[in-house]
Amino acid sequence: METPRASLAWDRERHLQFLGERVFDLLVVGGGATGCSVARDAALRGLDVCLVERGDLAAGSSSRSTRFIHGGLRYLKTLEFGFVREGLQERATLMAVAPHLVRPVEFLFPALRAVGMARTRLRLGIGLYDLLAGRNRLQGTRSLSRSQTLLLEPCLRGEGLRGSVIYFDGAADDARLVIETAVSAVEAGATVGLHVEVERIVPSDTGPAVLILKDRLTGKPLGARASIVVNAAGAWAGNLLREHSEGGKSQRATSPLRPSRGSHLVFPRESLPVFRVVVMPSRNDGRLLFAVPAGDFTYLGTTEVDHTGALDPVRADASEVEYILQVAKEVFDAPGISRDRILCTWAGIRPLVERPHTETGRLSRDFRILQEAAGVVSVVGGKLTSCRRMAEATLDLATGILASRTGRTSDACITGWKLFPGAEGAVAEADRELTPGLDGEVVKHLRTVYGARAGSILRKIAQVPSLGRPYAPGCPVTPAEVIHAVEREGAVRLADLLFRRFHPLMMEARIRSAPGKAVAEGASRLMASWLGWTEERRLNELVNLTEEWERDFWVPRPD
Ligand SMILES: Cc1cc2nc3c(=O)[nH]c(=O)nc-3n(C[C@H](O)[C@H](O)[C@H](O)COP(=O)(O)OP(=O)(O)OC[C@H]3O[C@@H](n4cnc5c(N)ncnc54)[C@H](O)[C@@H]3O)c2cc1C
Repeated sequence: METPRASLAWDRERHLQFLGERVFDLLVVGGGATGCSVARDAALRGLDVCLVERGDLAAGSSSRSTRFIHGGLRYLKTLEFGFVREGLQERATLMAVAPHLVRPVEFLFPALRAVGMARTRLRLGIGLYDLLAGRNRLQGTRSLSRSQTLLLEPCLRGEGLRGSVIYFDGAADDARLVIETAVSAVEAGATVGLHVEVERIVPSDTGPAVLILKDRLTGKPLGARASIVVNAAGAWAGNLLREHSEGGKSQRATSPLRPSRGSHLVFPRESLPVFRVVVMPSRNDGRLLFAVPAGDFTYLGTTEVDHTGALDPVRADASEVEYILQVAKEVFDAPGISRDRILCTWAGIRPLVERPHTETGRLSRDFRILQEAAGVVSVVGGKLTSCRRMAEATLDLATGILASRTGRTSDACITGWKLFPGAEGAVAEADRELTPGLDGEVVKHLRTVYGARAGSILRKIAQVPSLGRPYAPGCPVTPAEVIHAVEREGAVRLADLLFRRFHPLMMEARIRSAPGKAVAEGASRLMASWLGWTEERRLNELVNLTEEWERDFWVPRPD
């Protein structure tokens, strides 16, 4: 096997060294879905692009969504037909270019008397949704009687149930989608600086912008220069806009964003065993929440509240927990839906574009591109589903500005058809045959998460079979996957590995269990040997992991 460090395909130190070495065509601020999509699109257009993220990939809202890739059934209520159609088009595009990441999943929408929902009306609404998808519609929509519904989802409350409609929509693990977008960008030549914060952007009318940066792992100051800066800092984009206005370079004195918080609760699957996504209409305010099956867990969400406090940290509050529990108890008859069964929560901020005097829930999820100071473009709003399209529109504008400022031309956008790395070729059966004794759950997990890239992990296990042995029963994480994340996905902290690279396993819900602790211990030892950590640093990483959990995923006590 290769020796650690020398074999890192994604070496943070090397990327940081590149930062100061040249003038980039484009520098992207923010490593969420939007920023990574911009970086990937730019690199694939042949531009010299750099992305800086103050934390980890997807550490902002892009690992905190409900994880649907959809047009959004609920926007039919607000008559946003064009927006829904565009979302459904993007769903089809992402399913084509990243089929291992974006998949069709089954939804069941119960028709409930308590919310005045008749089955025929529901069927018509979902029929319209399918119609808006045109040739990209997902097959399978059908109506079910009350008894058929209860057979499929026995936890549903029988009283007031008038039947249901089954339909299909898209879903993806949000953090994995972002990570693979970043991997693709790096493979196309992008420089990516993780744990690097932009402290200030100094625009220039005549030359490249200068960025004052800080390495958040070492505290060291860094710098970079770029002809165009794209501010894709999500809910934090306003901070950078304000930064400009203080320097007198921007017309914009206030943020164009209205931060809206959404929270989720995670239960062990046995507390609420649903077999497909079940829509939970709230009796109180008519909002649609969801119960989503996710392997060993079921998660419920989401809320929608104006977030008026500081943007960090973002976490669920006690009233949101009560609200979600209340809606779930109205829809399901399951004693497991109780506060003391919640394993963890997660919350995120929707970076919604402000429209004065409008309720948060009625604000559009559409995006906006703003030209700030010379050579600075901000892309705000949108949703996970629209990140590829947002990137394309941002770059269509940014490349025009780049050409007029520097004469530099670029290729056309190819993200509408260019496959993601894990979609390029199926996992060869031959790779599986190399590892005949490997646990079937491990193979299934690797294929589901990495698509064709599972092949390189399986080959590693074929060379050293002990790398394929899970750290703990009931959780398919193996040392080979840890090495893959460090070597090829830029993971440099234990929390980055467990909470973002292993996101589909919902490590935040496992971390306090014996298997979760075994994975953390084993993975920290392996990371230490690959990244040259001292024992003190390794122990600090374990402490940081607990601190991050308590900051972001804890279950708030009732007020
Ligand atoms: C509760 C909830 C549910 C949702 N559900 C869905 C859904 O089901 N489907 C869907 O399509 N969309 C959904 N969304 C919307 C979607 O999650 C967001 O629109 C999307 O993730 C935003 O991505 P982003 O890259 O713009 O922002 P972020 O992911 O927040 O990324 C911005 C990044 O910028 C970084 N940053 C900030 N300041 C700096 C700086 N100074 N220097 C360097 N880096 C900086 C941050 O650390 C952050 O990582 C949901 C959102 C929420 C909150």
